[in-house]
Amino acid sequence: MSWPGGAAFAVSVTVDVDGCYGLPHGGRGWEHRLSSRSERLYGLTRGLPRILALLSRAGVLGTFYVPGAVAVDHPDALAAIAAGGHEVGHHGHRHLRPDEIDEAEQTHELRAGLEALADFVPAGYRAPGWELTPATLRALGEHGFTHDSSLMGDDGCYVVRAGPRTLWELPVHWTLDDAPHFASGGDPAVLGEIWLAELRCAEAEGRHVTFTLHPEILGRPHRVGVLERLIEEAATRGAWLAPHAQVVEHLSVPPR
Ligand SMILES: [Zn+2]
Repeated sequence: MSWPGGAAFAVSVTVDVDGCYGLPHGGRGWEHRLSSRSERLYGLTRGLPRILALLSRAGVLGTFYVPGAVAVDHPDALAAIAAGGHEVGHHGHRHLRPDEIDEAEQTHELRAGLEALADFVPAGYRAPGWELTPATLRALGEHGFTHDSSLMGDDGCYVVRAGPRTLWELPVHWTLDDAPHFASGGDPAVLGEIWLAELRCAEAEGRHVTFTLHPEILGRPHRVGVLERLIEEAATRGAWLAPHAQVVEHLSVPPR
């Protein structure tokens, strides 16, 4: 596969900006848990600006998957993301996992999120909890999305059928996500080695790879260096660093 500028491979940095809706069940029942909520809010007030500053210094555009309700509650955070020129993707409305709600509620989540994120015209979707369902996948096709980033069926980009159309899938994996690694402690140096190993594999295979981080997790001072090192290594190796929408644009019209 060829990449713009003669790059040997392609890399996307993706950031899931879940806010308090990233707590279990969209934060329902967690309203009184101030400590848990404050960690989530730290992600918006401290982690996010730190990550945005790093990306700006590196000249890298990322894809920020945001629940619609986060955009409503934190317009300044969204404005900062947009001001950086980054892509905003749809990450549900209240970050309810599609597999835990019925089909009607899944459709509601998709439409409410689209309405809340309308200013940012999201063309990509990432399922909360990375639990995409057939009903939500079909709804993505019906609502004109061009790409999804929730599945784990391959290393590089692939095509999935979504109701009336096909979408590009830009796959994820738990090992390429900061959350599981730091769920019980976790050494930033170890995560850095895992991500660099994957980077070298993507280069050897000439493919695209997606990394996922969260502002409240990798945005902490002693952890954010993992992202800095990843970007430096990707740039040194001549990767094309691009948000998902640009990758999909490059891949052009999906085969039908
Ligand atoms: Zn999320």
